Amino acid sequence: MQLLWARCPWCGYTGCDADFNDGAGLRVQTSPFRCLSCLATQVWPGDSLELDAEEARLGWYRPGRLNPRISSLNGTLLTDHQAQLLTRASLAPDAPFQVSLDEDESIRAFELID
Ligand SMILES: [Zn+2]
Repeated sequence: MQLLWARCPWCGYTGCDADFNDGAGLRVQTSPFRCLSCLATQVWPGDSLELDAEEARLGWYRPGRLNPRISSLNGTLLTDHQAQLLTRASLAPDAPFQVSLDEDESIRAFELID
């Protein structure tokens, strides 16, 4: 059985979440785990970012290193729920994406991640 929550190997936060699809009695993880405390994220098969020795050992990117597979807003990771809300409000394309906001909170740029 797959974990729904994971412990962050960098800071110890135990509420790291990921996206899952339920189907045919199977729960399939569809995104890397992300730590909303220190912003570390799990390495995902096929990722092209280079890992340092510690990242390779832990299987997680360092805190604050933006994982290109996870939606973000002004450089901060978004939860799946937040990303879905932005998408539903037609403020963002389908996740994952990166959003930059101006100081008045107007949207400066969307960058779709594939
Ligand atoms: Zn963490």
